[in-house]
Amino acid sequence: MNVKNEMKLEFLSRSQNEAFARVAVAAFAAQLDPTLEEIADIKTAVSEAVTNAIIHGYDNPNETVQIITRIYDNYVEIEVIDQGRGIEDIDLARQPLYTSKPELERSGMGFTVMETFMDELEVSSAPGQGTKVRMVKNISNDTQETERD
Ligand code: ATP
Ligand code: MG
Repeated sequence: MNVKNEMKLEFLSRSQNEAFARVAVAAFAAQLDPTLEEIADIKTAVSEAVTNAIIHGYDNPNETVQIITRIYDNYVEIEVIDQGRGIEDIDLARQPLYTSKPELERSGMGFTVMETFMDELEVSSAPGQGTKVRMVKNISNDTQETERD
């Protein structure tokens, strides 16, 4: 299916940017006329992925997190990318309750949350090179009329 629109976002690896990122992606995805629930799901998933990039990907707050969001006819695709530490065992990392930072009181549920709230979740990662989390959310815009713009 053809891309209808695309945006790229880059920001420093600081926790203040989690809220910015989820609102920015949600505002862009709003073009598809999602329901409030779909918007909430997208925000939650983006928040988890960005938090992971900042907390696990990087050790310092001056690195770059990138988000690419693409809008298609009836779904939105979101990629959250860091060039940080990477994940050695992706299957293990995706297990519910697995965390490499129990001392920070993480619950190890981030990937499980992303999987639950989104329709697709793909994790690519290489140690020392970084991580890309690709998520897809279907948007059931049945009542959409003809193009308004
Ligand atoms: P929670 O999200 O519940 O606070 P968590 O972040 O540890 O806890 P997940 O989000 O499920 O749990 O991530 C599981 C593990 O995968 C992390 O503990 C970390 O080891 C690894 N991980 C996730 N994202 C990244 C990333 N961007 N870079 C490096 N490691 C990551
Ligand atoms: Mg997490």
